[in-house]
Amino acid sequence: MSLVPFVFQNSKSGKKEPFQPKDPANVTIYSCGPTVYNFAHIGNIRSFLFVDVLRRSLLLGGYKLNQSMNITDIDDKIINESIKQKMSIEDFTKPWTEAFFKDLETVHVQKLEHYPKATESIDAMVGLVETLQSNGLVYEKDGNLYFSIQKFSRYGELSKIDVSGMKSGVRYDADEYTKDDVRDFVLWKNQKTEEEKCWHTSIGTGRPGWHLECSAMIRKVYGSGVDIHTGGIDLLFPHHENEAAQSLGAYPKEEFVGTWLHCEHLLVDGEKMSKSKGNFYTLRDILEKGYDPNAIRYHLISAHYRSKLNFSLGKLEESKTALERIQNTIYRVLETGSLWDQVPKKYDPIEFSVPELQKLNLEFMDSLADDLNVPKALASVFELVRIVNQFLDSKNSSTSGSFLKESLFLFYQINQLFAVFQFEKQVQSLEGISEEWILDQINQRKTAKQNKDFSTADKIRKELEEKGILLADTKEGITTWKKAQ
Ligand code: AMP
Ligand code: ZN
Repeated sequence: MSLVPFVFQNSKSGKKEPFQPKDPANVTIYSCGPTVYNFAHIGNIRSFLFVDVLRRSLLLGGYKLNQSMNITDIDDKIINESIKQKMSIEDFTKPWTEAFFKDLETVHVQKLEHYPKATESIDAMVGLVETLQSNGLVYEKDGNLYFSIQKFSRYGELSKIDVSGMKSGVRYDADEYTKDDVRDFVLWKNQKTEEEKCWHTSIGTGRPGWHLECSAMIRKVYGSGVDIHTGGIDLLFPHHENEAAQSLGAYPKEEFVGTWLHCEHLLVDGEKMSKSKGNFYTLRDILEKGYDPNAIRYHLISAHYRSKLNFSLGKLEESKTALERIQNTIYRVLETGSLWDQVPKKYDPIEFSVPELQKLNLEFMDSLADDLNVPKALASVFELVRIVNQFLDSKNSSTSGSFLKESLFLFYQINQLFAVFQFEKQVQSLEGISEEWILDQINQRKTAKQNKDFSTADKIRKELEEKGILLADTKEGITTWKKAQ
């Protein structure tokens, strides 16, 4: 299969550039992942779905991928929370890491090739600090090791931050940063209290600063830099600037990242999400209101990744309706053409013979290849829906065989990106299931949730869903059920 040429808006140059991976059969992509200390909110989920759109688009374009997302399982927040709850870091982060993977599965995010954890990459981090030390970029203060940004002339290249006003030796050692505040950042923190998690290493007894892990893990997984590095826009400065400083400071002759991609934030009702404003949603909050994961996925990916997405339950409803419109057309094609047994088992590109479909197929792919323009790709999907419905309404039979089969295939191909459409007959019957059994399942789920065993609770919800039973949790803690429509 020939490769589709992509262009990306590279944050490094601030311009759209042709994508030129070193090896299209092994495209290396690294994405900053979650800090595992609570449930991901829907803004986080948006940024993970952006990574999925990138992955699925490149796969459709014929590339082979070698992708990583890190799990930050050590930082200030994790340490503080685990101490508060008298738990080890491992025991504290385990259920949150599982919840993260569960959330990704719920919104059909494809599995990546690697999920390196910070706590399992300490050796690589220590090695990187030693390389930076021998390159003269590190100094020590009160047992902490800092990166001296004034000794690194390329500091600020990525985020275009102005370092000229920076006073020498101004340091920052917290894992949460004030934006635009240019300071030397901590590479390695010494242990401050007995209960704080630490590692005994050649650079001291302590733990890594937050930025260090990504540079070290990229090196550990790939032995070099990467073709693409992604993250939310809030990570551009200082996190990514600091990552670049560490990696280029250690290996000045190598390219660290070919293309930097940054995903814009999600707002709720026009505002930044915050718990105090009551506009803070986790994925689970929205599922518990009875919304379908497919509608959530469709909604969160349908805006361009570089636009702010203004989330509201009303807009989610609109997405649900749009999704149903496409789905109904797919069912119509399957039913009218008796094509239920002709749905491909796996995706393999075909040559389209019907000119309108050929054109829409090209337009769809061109839109994705143009910096992942999903809204434009969706316009082609709705044009497909329009012409297919027109065709079905007119009962034009002369080319019906190939038209319907190829439009089914085109929908199937489009679903390689969206991953929300069904191609099987829906089973609606609750035959053989008693209400008593359903209530027993609901009780078991409640107990699992009380025990913080979220994976069992989610498994029960999913099993019920597969049988056509939807659960809704009220604010008062009562769970109700209904038959899926
Ligand atoms: P964290 O778990 O806080 O480290 O964040 C994980 C990812 O979510 C990072 O790439 C963040 O940039 C991204 N992120 C955080 N808040 C939002 C938001 N409101 N909208 C979109 N992405 C976000
Ligand atoms: Zn990172």
